[in-house]
Amino acid sequence: MNKPFLMVVDDDPQVLAAIRRDLRSRYGSTYTVVSAQSGEQALESVRELKARGDALALVVSDQRMPGMQGTELLARTREFHPLARRLLLTAYSDVHAAITAINDAHVHHYLQKPWDPPEERLFPVVDDELDAWQAEYLPEAKGLRLVGHQWAPRSHAIKDFLSANLIPFRWLDVDHHPDAGGLLDAAGVEASALPALFFEDGSVLQDPEPRVVAERLGRSLTAGSNLYDLVIVGAGPAGLAAAVYGASEGLKTLMIDCHAPGGQAGSSSRIENYLGFPTGVSGSELTRRAILQAERLGAEFIVPLEVASVGVDGGYKRLTLRDGREVVTRTIVAATGMSYREHTANGVAEHTGAGVYYGAATTEAPSVAGKRVFVIGGGNSAGQGALYLARYAREVHVVIRRESLADTMSQYLIDQLAKTPNVHLRPRTEVAGVEGDGHVEHIALTSTDSAAAAVEDADAVFIFIGTRPRSDWLPASVLRDARGFVLTGRDLMAHDDFARVWKESRQPLLLETSVPGVFAAGDVRAGAMNRVAAAVGEGSMTVRLVHEYLALT
Ligand SMILES: Cc1cc2nc3c(=O)[nH]c(=O)nc-3n(C[C@H](O)[C@H](O)[C@H](O)COP(=O)(O)OP(=O)(O)OC[C@H]3O[C@@H](n4cnc5c(N)ncnc54)[C@H](O)[C@@H]3O)c2cc1C
Repeated sequence: MNKPFLMVVDDDPQVLAAIRRDLRSRYGSTYTVVSAQSGEQALESVRELKARGDALALVVSDQRMPGMQGTELLARTREFHPLARRLLLTAYSDVHAAITAINDAHVHHYLQKPWDPPEERLFPVVDDELDAWQAEYLPEAKGLRLVGHQWAPRSHAIKDFLSANLIPFRWLDVDHHPDAGGLLDAAGVEASALPALFFEDGSVLQDPEPRVVAERLGRSLTAGSNLYDLVIVGAGPAGLAAAVYGASEGLKTLMIDCHAPGGQAGSSSRIENYLGFPTGVSGSELTRRAILQAERLGAEFIVPLEVASVGVDGGYKRLTLRDGREVVTRTIVAATGMSYREHTANGVAEHTGAGVYYGAATTEAPSVAGKRVFVIGGGNSAGQGALYLARYAREVHVVIRRESLADTMSQYLIDQLAKTPNVHLRPRTEVAGVEGDGHVEHIALTSTDSAAAAVEDADAVFIFIGTRPRSDWLPASVLRDARGFVLTGRDLMAHDDFARVWKESRQPLLLETSVPGVFAAGDVRAGAMNRVAAAVGEGSMTVRLVHEYLALT
């Protein structure tokens, strides 16, 4: 297998020579650096690499060139090498134009000329981009392969687990992929044992639970210590921030998540409004960086394992995990966020995982290529999901009860949806049911103006209809509001049961719950802002409060 390629494109021979030299000096031993003097020439090379089966990891292109401009080249590169990281080179005077163009061309980063010294202004950016590429790229015929039925809920569960945990794998639909049958025959796997997960060493797991896959991949599901200073439950943005601060400030910190680090944010295809990422950042990219940071600072992770309950024993808290084991800690941060509310229309429950998905747009998008899909809901997550699905599906119908999206979705998403020709808004419409033989084939829709139902063809339905807090695992002494969101700080004092539950001589700390030493951060908390930045802020703050609490005990 050839080394992966890095491509540099500039019409100015001096600039081209300089960037080629810098990249070769740093990356030449692992990557082949090639160059082109125009967008047209570069696109030709991009096509050739694709035809030869070579991997293109990164393209750095100047913006202003005669003929094809940098942004157009980068956008077209995406058609052939969707994983290649795309960097735009701009002059200072072009930065504004570049940022605008970046939104349309899905450029990952822009670099300003000159980039001296490269150790500060070029290599850190390229290092990051190549790390991100490595995390997603899977060489042909290598790595994990998952063979199964597209519409089996267990296939979806394993796909979702692997992608949410940022583990690259290749999906082989047993009914359509030419290699699937041969692979199963060679390993003697029966159709009844699907899905089957094939490892690089030839071993195979048949119909495994995500937990078994995690163990086989070497993930630790056992706590390393008998007693922690801080256990964080939930590894979404709030939990990950608490882990980074907890570990960096010397607390013995354990993080537990029942699914995958990243939480809801991890399922977001593009977070546009997180500080410091002018071109947006995908949830998986943000998560990958946060995990690296938390682990480097010394936080331990147990994923996937659910916390079933908590017992309070004086200053110690005992968490019981779903497999029956216990973890003991002095403080807890509850950062378990929210999950999607279930849709109650006929047929939805039976088809969940078999064409009906909650969120999951990024996991299932490739499998709906060329198909007709429905997105139910009008919030930002529905908008992001619809845009992501529109890259693959033939038609994406967004079903909302209201007249328009104006009150429920951010304007930038409304604008992007309006500009996407295969997205169709279906206002004043409700889902009456879904039907199909083993998987979704039809959806019944009613108009809110009349009761008339119309049945339409549908290959998949993605539901984004609001959320409920994931606070059931906390003890009853942790007071919640009427909807189940956890009360903290001053908000506790207004609760009827506060005086009965709280026996300390002090008032609860800012993000402390009604159980001393148990804190809550992010979307699970009553009054949360439901934003990544807010969750990160609260997660970070809890660590300061944990120190205060520990100093008091
Ligand atoms: C599709 C989508 C797009 C979004 N886009 C944006 C955006 O562009 N900008 C923005 O600011 N916000 C966005 N949001 C909102 C943002 O993602 C959330 O506000 C944020 O993720 C909340 O973080 P959190 O850490 O509080 O909880 P969550 O992200 O919900 O994470 C909670 C974690 O806890 C785990 N967990 C739950 N119960 C247990 C248990 N009992 N045991 C162990 N683990 C448990 C879950 O597996 C999960 O990983 C988006 C949300 C979605 C769904």
